[in-house]
Amino acid sequence: MKMLVKPMGRGYMTNCYILIKNNRSIVIDPGIGSVEWIVRNAPDPLAALNTHGHSDHTYGCAILQQELKIPIYIRQEDNFMLNIDYFGMNQRPCVADYLVSDEEPITIGDFCFKFVYFPGHSPGCSMIEFEDRIFSGDFIFNDCVGRYDFPTSNGSDMKRSLEKFMRLYGADGIDDRPLYPGHDKPTSIQKARAFIPKFIAMIDNQ
Ligand SMILES: [Zn+2]
Repeated sequence: MKMLVKPMGRGYMTNCYILIKNNRSIVIDPGIGSVEWIVRNAPDPLAALNTHGHSDHTYGCAILQQELKIPIYIRQEDNFMLNIDYFGMNQRPCVADYLVSDEEPITIGDFCFKFVYFPGHSPGCSMIEFEDRIFSGDFIFNDCVGRYDFPTSNGSDMKRSLEKFMRLYGADGIDDRPLYPGHDKPTSIQKARAFIPKFIAMIDNQ
């Protein structure tokens, strides 16, 4: 599987990813300014997946869906953010084609992935897990966790989600798959496990 990445949107630098396999592609987080790049670089796109509903990650969804007929996937709790202009960025509204409500594997063409639910940064925040890599959105970054002080964020949910991460990933010390975040450089499961407890303790003390 080939992967392309490009930070999108001045002031946001939100990573848009394209995964390519057998001349078909999947887009992850088609944010502001991403459509032209997607059209040029994503062969025959099968779907656009959103780690969460914030505009800097979803700005291109309506155009991809309505003009390029690419189906949009998002966890159901964040769909409402596609309908409103959450950050006042003149985002064209849309309703996702697939509202994800569980963590079951989803197969589209030759791609298999699942949405793993980690609310806190937003109500429907998810990591999108492929076999060999995980897209962590704004949940886990290179050396910190995502913000949980937005109006629709929730610190208690964030704490539970971080605990869930520690249970699900890498407790064996072996699983060290890369995590590709919504902003900045990649990290890995073991690197994240090293800093997450500090953030869990920080939330405890708030
Ligand atoms: Zn966000």
